[in-house]
Amino acid sequence: MAAEHAIRPREADVIFGIANRAKQAAEQYGSENIINSTIGALLDDNGKLIAFNTVYDTLKSMDNAQIAAYAALEGDHDYLDASIRACFMDKKPVGHIRSVATPGGTGAVRHAVCNYTNPGDTFLTADWFWEPYQTIADENGRKLDTYNLFNEKNEFDFESYKKQFEAYLIKQKRILIVLNTPAHNPTGYTISDGEWDRIIDLAKEHAANPENKIIFLVDVAYIDFAGDDARDFMPKFGNLPKNIMTLFAFSASKSYTMYGLRCGAIICVTPSEDLAEEFFYSCAHSNRGTWSNGTKGAMHVIATIYNDKTLYEECEKERNIYRNLLKKRGDAFLRSVNEVGLPITNYRGGFFVSVPCAEPEKLCKLLIEDKLFAVPLRKGIRLALCAISEEKCAQTPAMIKKALSKM
Ligand code: PLP
Repeated sequence: MAAEHAIRPREADVIFGIANRAKQAAEQYGSENIINSTIGALLDDNGKLIAFNTVYDTLKSMDNAQIAAYAALEGDHDYLDASIRACFMDKKPVGHIRSVATPGGTGAVRHAVCNYTNPGDTFLTADWFWEPYQTIADENGRKLDTYNLFNEKNEFDFESYKKQFEAYLIKQKRILIVLNTPAHNPTGYTISDGEWDRIIDLAKEHAANPENKIIFLVDVAYIDFAGDDARDFMPKFGNLPKNIMTLFAFSASKSYTMYGLRCGAIICVTPSEDLAEEFFYSCAHSNRGTWSNGTKGAMHVIATIYNDKTLYEECEKERNIYRNLLKKRGDAFLRSVNEVGLPITNYRGGFFVSVPCAEPEKLCKLLIEDKLFAVPLRKGIRLALCAISEEKCAQTPAMIKKALSKM
């Protein structure tokens, strides 16, 4: 009965499928005897989901009716201001900046794709990418194409990026590029300042033709777990030509441990007040036509944190504890990688790291024999450092190296 375009493969989500097998193994052997590196959320060393007290104490202090009420369609205004502060902190670019609330960063990606490409258009992202980008393309009659994230030196492949960027810009006269940085999912890569300069210079060169429309969507879902200089690149988006629009996908899921509360925003930076206004009404209209409004209680929590200096500082302090925990896990993993000589993607920090391989599903099956659960992707396997202890992070490279030698 479903319309033809809506008939999808009847397969369970791969990540959730493996996560279920890991759960069963934990029940059978004890969680300390398995390594479940599938979950994309920050867990403590005992496998428990970390939830910030500052966030949940604030939520629970709210009056029931305040949580129950509808939020404004575009998002409550104190939240919209707070989302801009949370996104840029002290690195706000110069320009007209507007924000529209979305249910998580996913909603922001959806709006960028639907409102800044035409039906049937192709948008670009790196060849290692978060699979929902493809789902969003499929859902909305768009296509996704990729450039190589890494060259043979395991560094940003600017040549491949340039080739794809120019090919689609010539063809479509408009191009949306989704860049998930810093601490990219699934590789942990962060685009450096110098690489950003080349990306922006290329856009400026092509923006000289007023017919071209260039849109960056910077997906910063992991920014608060990416180091102190993570926002240094942001001012680069100020004072760009009018036909370069920068959008940011802000997410409270990881930064405020609000995964299930569905809180995020799409934020624009443009030199044109008119284009900022166009952005705002376009995305507010999309809100009404997709999920209506967002989660009032979640918006209120973020707004409260940004309007109460003490609470804000406590929240930062709380996050720093876990940021350091994740950093230690990453360091332990990298030390072992160097010891055993395992080739990995260029990891600069964050929740995930990947190991390239030709047969990811086969490698994952071999690892399961050793009770290590990882996620097979198109070009390798993904390990969630966010979900396993420092000790387990140190163990995995040797296990993977051994499994690879059997292939
Ligand atoms: N972008 C990337 C790359 C992600 O990995 C995620 C979450 O896993 C998101 C965006 C957005 O998540 P949410 O919709 O929960 O904010």
